[in-house]
Amino acid sequence: MMEERCRRFLAVRTEAIMKRRGLSRPEAEREAFSHLVVEFLNLTHPNADPARCAQCGGPGSQNDVLLPIGVGARHTWLHGHCWESWRARRRAEVEKELAQFGIVKPVELEAAS
Ligand SMILES: [Zn+2]
Repeated sequence: MMEERCRRFLAVRTEAIMKRRGLSRPEAEREAFSHLVVEFLNLTHPNADPARCAQCGGPGSQNDVLLPIGVGARHTWLHGHCWESWRARRRAEVEKELAQFGIVKPVELEAAS
């Protein structure tokens, strides 16, 4: 089950980061969370129509070419200027999905006093 896999990933990764990098648990948990988001993004990377931008739906043109963003054999095609917003949207979608499992992004640490 996906939720269990995510929790196991976080637990294992947090321990590994603490051990390897000597970080505190809250720091390691934040790091592990961002690794989980990347794993999830890679796992769900869409294979999209090469003739359309996955963000705005527009076609490529000579002055505004579509660039392939790939993971393995799967590619998504985007205008250079659409990439940032596409990535932000995908990241938000993944974080929303994880939140449904009760896995939320650890809050930023307070500045040490
Ligand atoms: Zn576009």
